[in-house]
Amino acid sequence: MSVVQSTSPQNPSDLVVTVAEATGSDVDQAVHRARQAQRAWAAASPAERAAALHGAGEAVAAATDELAALVVREVGKPSAEATGEVARSVAILRYYAQQVFDPIGALHEPSGGGRGLTYTRRRARGIAALITPWNFPLAIPLWKAAPALAFGNAAVIKPAPQATACALRLAELIGPHLPDGLLAVLPGDAEVGQAVVAAGDVVSFTGSAAVGGVVASAAARRGVATQCEMGGQNPTIVLPDVDVAAVARQVAYAAFGYAGQKCTATKRVIVVGDPGGFTEALVAATEELRLGDPADPATGVGPVIDRAARDRVLAAAASVRAGGGRILTGGHPGPGAGWFVAPTLVDNLPADHLLLREEVFGPICAVSRAGSVAEALDAANDVRYGLSAAVFTNDLDTALRCADGLAAGQIKINAPTTGVDFYLPFGGERDSSFGQREQGKAAQEFYTSLHTVTTAVAPT
Ligand code: NAD
Repeated sequence: MSVVQSTSPQNPSDLVVTVAEATGSDVDQAVHRARQAQRAWAAASPAERAAALHGAGEAVAAATDELAALVVREVGKPSAEATGEVARSVAILRYYAQQVFDPIGALHEPSGGGRGLTYTRRRARGIAALITPWNFPLAIPLWKAAPALAFGNAAVIKPAPQATACALRLAELIGPHLPDGLLAVLPGDAEVGQAVVAAGDVVSFTGSAAVGGVVASAAARRGVATQCEMGGQNPTIVLPDVDVAAVARQVAYAAFGYAGQKCTATKRVIVVGDPGGFTEALVAATEELRLGDPADPATGVGPVIDRAARDRVLAAAASVRAGGGRILTGGHPGPGAGWFVAPTLVDNLPADHLLLREEVFGPICAVSRAGSVAEALDAANDVRYGLSAAVFTNDLDTALRCADGLAAGQIKINAPTTGVDFYLPFGGERDSSFGQREQGKAAQEFYTSLHTVTTAVAPT
């Protein structure tokens, strides 16, 4: 029997959970039960679905402290952010509990005139196969499962192995508010993920671009609605007219908070004009961030998720030195037995350096210089990703020009690349995203299919 284990990144000898990996027959059974439960669920009144989701939200709210502590322990998220993630999870459940009452179609003029009735109507798709990453171990499973359920689907979640305990606890809390079998969590990695994708009537994936590509092609071959939200290489453009110290503090946290492990983390800072003063302020703001135990409320930067992640960040830092770039701060492991890396800021990189092109998922960020706004936009867009991008300026014309010119799904003006509002559509451009947007009001369209009904009425 294969097992899935997750260990605490700040204390790798702390085994958080060990559980049997789902077998092929576990997947079949979970999908069978979900399908049975889904038929009645889709036919239930919206008030019943709303009540269930509200109940689930209250159960998560009542477990706030316990869940936040589990998030800190299992994925090393700093405690203030972990508590924020629980609050956001509750808000997501409450928000979709209300969306069940939204219109599900539109009335149109009958083509033959008269009293004929022509309308569109949305229907649940069936089984939602949800493949999730470890970095938002509650919010991401929920921002997929809550709308899937709200609009009448069953949800089968395949969480990242590193976040197995969070997913299982979430299911324990919200499962009792739902019909038996409607929600399932299947522990495992790639093999279980493939089996879940193969069973879904609609597939929603969040994770790396490499895996997202595999999931998108597998789902496309089956012709089911698919969305993949993937990595980013998120730029922040800084104009010389800003309050340097204040902006540097925001950018430092966007790059290094939660050890740079948000899909929207700032990976490149492009300073227009002479970067000297801003770079100095950014180094100072970076060094002010507290690296250490994520359970300590003063900590901003915890560990990275595992040894491989730490090695990737340290290898990228080593390649900066080898390629003639400068390490402005960091570039070495942090103290203690956990997977800590000092926040690492670099500059003077050649244009083809890995850190200017690919996502290195950890606390490492590159500063570069542009001679003009046009040059900064070209540099910002010169990657295969397009998830989140920011510009800091006091000039409205420049802000709007960047809002129009940045190749990203999420654009922030005078705000960090990080931070996603659950009530707005979210997704990227290029290799950051495949398929429709998720969250907000975009979710209904994705988790339902659209039908056109024409009723001809004989003339009297
Ligand atoms: P990952 O791609 O390694 O894994 C994501 C999920 O896919 C996991 O559940 C994993 O077990 C599963 N999986 C792996 N191989 C599979 C296969 N062949 N078929 C089906 N499922 C498979 O990503 P991760 O390390 O868990 O998460 C970090 C990545 O997620 C980063 O690239 C980050 O940018 C991205 N991310 C994106 C967003 C977004 O909304 N765009 C949000 C959070 C994280």
